[in-house]
Amino acid sequence: MGKKNENVHFVCALCGQNVLPLINGSYRNHCPFCLGSLHVDNIPGDRKSQCGGIMIACKILLHAKKGWQVIHKCQKCGIEKANKIAENDQQSDDWQLLIKLSINER
Ligand SMILES: [Zn+2]
Ligand SMILES: [Zn+2]
Repeated sequence: MGKKNENVHFVCALCGQNVLPLINGSYRNHCPFCLGSLHVDNIPGDRKSQCGGIMIACKILLHAKKGWQVIHKCQKCGIEKANKIAENDQQSDDWQLLIKLSINER
């Protein structure tokens, strides 16, 4: 699978919304509506993980260089991954959810 095929729309496995690719061409690895994701990558976009567990956004943090990041935790294997939030996009990450995460860590 080439890089071109990775950046296509997908239907969120958690909430069922149709998620469009990012307009800036970056790889979108979580749903902007529920912030959920699946554990399918070892490194972002590689689709090499065998886990397949549901990854739930559990907190956000401000990275000095990368900006705001969502921390996803896999409900199956427990791994935590930091992902850049999507902003200034046709489907930006839900700020209400992000704000909730910032004050009430799950
Ligand atoms: Zn979703
Ligand atoms: Zn996992």
